Amino acid sequence: MEKKKVLVVEDNDLNLKLCLLALRASDATILVARNGDDAVVQVERENPDLVILDIRLPGRSGIEVAKAMRAMPTLKDVPILAVTACAMPGDKERILAAGCNYYIPKPIDTRAFPKIVHAILAGQIPPLPC
Ligand code: MN
Repeated sequence: MEKKKVLVVEDNDLNLKLCLLALRASDATILVARNGDDAVVQVERENPDLVILDIRLPGRSGIEVAKAMRAMPTLKDVPILAVTACAMPGDKERILAAGCNYYIPKPIDTRAFPKIVHAILAGQIPPLPC
């Protein structure tokens, strides 16, 4: 089977480290972008199987990255897993409306996270947390 490719978009060092640790067990090739503009460049170039997307980013926000991807024919169906510390009313709706398929709150649950990633790479979107 061909290796899956996962792009992690995260500007915070600690969150990135946690995310990469949680992904260690997956057999995927991991790519990293540290800001929204680089994320857009990399999704176009790499055509990943999954994008794990922080929402608060320098430059283009995660919301803008998701919208940009959904506007591109080759990237409109690539699963996006949003990771967000936002807890304001309406944030969840805003994230899903931008085209993200799933979201998890920060700090990431390092036990649940790999299962969610695995399910999405297997073509299943698990039920959303409330
Ligand atoms: Mn951030």
